[in-house]
Amino acid sequence: MIQGSTELVAIVGSPVAQVKSPENFNRWFVDHQQNIVMLAIDLAQTALDDFVQTLRGWQNMRGCVVTVPYKQMLASRLDSVSERSAALRSVNVIRREPDGRLVGDIVDGEGFLNAARQQGFNPKNKQALVIGTGGVGSAIAYSLCQAGVSHLVISDISHERVEALGDLLRSAFPNSVISACLASLEHFDLVVNASPVGMSATRDDGPMPLPAAMMKTLNAKTLVADVVTSPTVTPFLAFARNRGCPIQTGPQMALAQLGNLGHFIGVTPLEI
Ligand code: NAD
Repeated sequence: MIQGSTELVAIVGSPVAQVKSPENFNRWFVDHQQNIVMLAIDLAQTALDDFVQTLRGWQNMRGCVVTVPYKQMLASRLDSVSERSAALRSVNVIRREPDGRLVGDIVDGEGFLNAARQQGFNPKNKQALVIGTGGVGSAIAYSLCQAGVSHLVISDISHERVEALGDLLRSAFPNSVISACLASLEHFDLVVNASPVGMSATRDDGPMPLPAAMMKTLNAKTLVADVVTSPTVTPFLAFARNRGCPIQTGPQMALAQLGNLGHFIGVTPLEI
């Protein structure tokens, strides 16, 4: 039951009917006897500036998870953001400080790494490929470099995005080799699909983000991950699983990120 004393958190985006954060957070709040609830706010873009101003004065609102399409638009409207959010010009979580200041961060990459670590993957000195350099792919690439991968290959159908992310990563992480040259998958410890390819696929032989000939170079020791949440096992993951690779799904990444989001807002521990 929501009471006058109940504290609020939210997820803001548009649309929001499909998001899973409210049920995941609200279940955790109930299970841990927290008098906090998460609301899903479907916000029109025309109301974004008013929303940010309202958030500053909303005294029982602790913070918001941010989803599509507002991750970039909100990053430039906050009072301060983390170094990685400033570099990536994107936020997926906002904390409202007691004085009303709004602080942002992007923890998609950390959520991804939590899930990978839960599978026993340690990124230090490893070779990784990230396919798709949009919001989520950039955040994963940034976190992989922060965690010490020795070689990162980035790939996207947009040449400009690859160039821009490559420049950003090379200047922020001089100890990692960043390239866009992809001849084979054989030597990678980790291959990630961070593009939407495979979303809503209904068959295992549906679309994949790499050509079939390239997929056949996949090594059975490589951890193969996808960020797409539906279906849980995308055609890309189904192919990898058939080759004997360990796989990591989009829902695993989403679940592993709950603690990062809740901890940044101040409503859960980091590990939940
Ligand atoms: P985005 O639009 O910002 O980026 C997608 C990128 O993929 C673009 O740069 C695009 O050019 C590239 N791309 C498209 N087709 C490609 C192909 N065939 N090969 C290489 N690159 C290709 O989108 P986003 O916000 O980064 O989201 C990507 C996916 O991540 C979506 O499916 C989203 O639902 C999912 N997502 C998952 C989680 C999670 O926790 N699992 C969290 C957020 C988003």
